[in-house]
Amino acid sequence: MINRFVSLVFLATAVPLSAGDPAPTPALPVTQAAAYPGTIAIEVDARDTVSRAFTTTQTIPVVAGTRDLVLVYPKWLQGNHAPSGQIQRVSRLAFTSDKGPVEWQRVPSEPYAFRLALPDGASKVMVELTYTSPFPGDAWRVLMTDAMLNLQWEKMSLYPAGWDINRMRVKPSVLLPDGWAVAGALDGEVREGNRVSYAETDYATLADSPLFAGKHHRRWDLGQGVELEAFGDEAKNLVAKDEAIAAGKALVAEAVATFGSKHFDHYDFLLALTDQLGGIGLEHHRSSENTQSPDDLSDFAGNTHDNSLLPHEFTHSWNGKFRRPAGLVAPDFHTALDARLLWVYEGQTSFWDWVLAARSGFMPRDVVLGSLAEDAAYYSRQAGREWRSVEDSTFDPMLGYRADRPFPSLSRNRDYYSEAGLVWLEVDQIIRKGTKGKRGLDDFAKLFFGVKDGSWQVLPYEFADVVAALDAVYPYDWTGFLKSRMGEAGQPAPLAGIEAAGYRLTWRSEPNPYTKQARSGAKGDFSGSLGIRVSGDGNVSATQWNSPGFAAGLTPDTRIVAVNSLAFTQARLAEALESAKASKVAPQLIVKRGERFETIALPYFDGVRYPWLERVGDKPVGLDRLLDPRRK
Ligand SMILES: [Zn+2]
Repeated sequence: MINRFVSLVFLATAVPLSAGDPAPTPALPVTQAAAYPGTIAIEVDARDTVSRAFTTTQTIPVVAGTRDLVLVYPKWLQGNHAPSGQIQRVSRLAFTSDKGPVEWQRVPSEPYAFRLALPDGASKVMVELTYTSPFPGDAWRVLMTDAMLNLQWEKMSLYPAGWDINRMRVKPSVLLPDGWAVAGALDGEVREGNRVSYAETDYATLADSPLFAGKHHRRWDLGQGVELEAFGDEAKNLVAKDEAIAAGKALVAEAVATFGSKHFDHYDFLLALTDQLGGIGLEHHRSSENTQSPDDLSDFAGNTHDNSLLPHEFTHSWNGKFRRPAGLVAPDFHTALDARLLWVYEGQTSFWDWVLAARSGFMPRDVVLGSLAEDAAYYSRQAGREWRSVEDSTFDPMLGYRADRPFPSLSRNRDYYSEAGLVWLEVDQIIRKGTKGKRGLDDFAKLFFGVKDGSWQVLPYEFADVVAALDAVYPYDWTGFLKSRMGEAGQPAPLAGIEAAGYRLTWRSEPNPYTKQARSGAKGDFSGSLGIRVSGDGNVSATQWNSPGFAAGLTPDTRIVAVNSLAFTQARLAEALESAKASKVAPQLIVKRGERFETIALPYFDGVRYPWLERVGDKPVGLDRLLDPRRK
């Protein structure tokens, strides 16, 4: 649509003029579908691991006679689905030209933009930009440690407004600490001493091609042009179990078998094994940025609960990067995005992440089922369902990116991931039932994502395209189904897909294999019973709105000091719940909230319980068949 190329900032700030007023100056130039004249050089100096500052030098050629230039810091980031550009981390900016000093002012209506007044005859503008990484403890991600770094070009550069970033040529390079290895999707790597330079590309591709670099690095070939590029806090993190690498190869084979295409010539899993660098899982067309715990590869079996990450980000190469909602395609990084179809982009990716994790052996099947059981249990008593739809939750990243949400079960943040994933399971089962088991969501995947094998050109879609592809697999009222499941509040908990697939949600006194591993033995996980978690020293967290714990006042500012007059331990709280189940006498707790101690009763009588998915009957059912490997 043409109006996507018009700055919304300008539209929002336009005011009616009375006759005689001068014509208004647009806040930002309108983005033209034209190539930027000339190639922009961008070099990032990433050698200072003590201050953790990245210092960028940019040389931007300008057309003869240019006196007014607007440079913008990337604001709307497609992979974040939000105006999440970290301009507050830009700690210094300076502009000069080949004809002398350049004066600049921030654009009042768009503080991510800078208006430069160029001297007469200037043919290029030089930018110096210092981006300072947060230090540990900050709310945002640490991007540099003394052992590794994560270079994200869109956080460390500016671009000229008014030109399509897909047709803006750039020549990138980076200066690295002595002896560090580097990996990323950029082509034409040439290394000379500390400087690594890359072939010319466009600014959109550059922003989609971050680098990981570090002291301790190892690379594995996973087949099909896919490589695992791992960096560790320490060298020992890179001693991988054979089954970890085998699962990586199986994941690649399963994804290509499922989607029936590849939309990359090569693909890098950038994987930091760290508890020092800030956590990330971010998709790109030919790579992904991932962090896992330091022992993820060396203790593969002990970390399988967390292993949907690589399947998730890899799926995005098809769902999100190659095929993308039209509202998430923009010619610049300052046009507002429309993220309402994230229940396809993220929701169906959530479906495929656990399917591919199970098919490849990245996660054992019982761990996948345990993870689904936690989701099913959570949604079964989620208070916020009554007011907010899955689709409305797609606005969440725009409403305070990474900000705290004290009660997600009420505010219902980001349910376009896991709830939508369970709705896609229901879609799969409707197709299987209607076609007597002949077809399923695999067929949709091939039809929708598997087209144009080898093409990287983004293929945008609208809601009607999703419905048309589903109809081609199995004719059904998909419009009505998706509009109610995704678009309406007050929908039932998304258990229909699980039940149609031959399983049911049940409760047991032992944690399922996922919960046990993900919650460190689950001794403090009372989510299924009281609707809270409690740390070893009694601090309450993750209180679910309207749960028994919530009703008793166990909110996240509370510390449980004593249980039935004895000092708090997790085991004593569990024993008290079990005793109450038999005696029907409510346990008494002493809690501390701020400076005040209180005695409260906990009238809950169902005992300690954890969610499980249990197969109905002994024979393999639909969900089992869905999780069976597809690779030959
Ligand atoms: Zn995702």
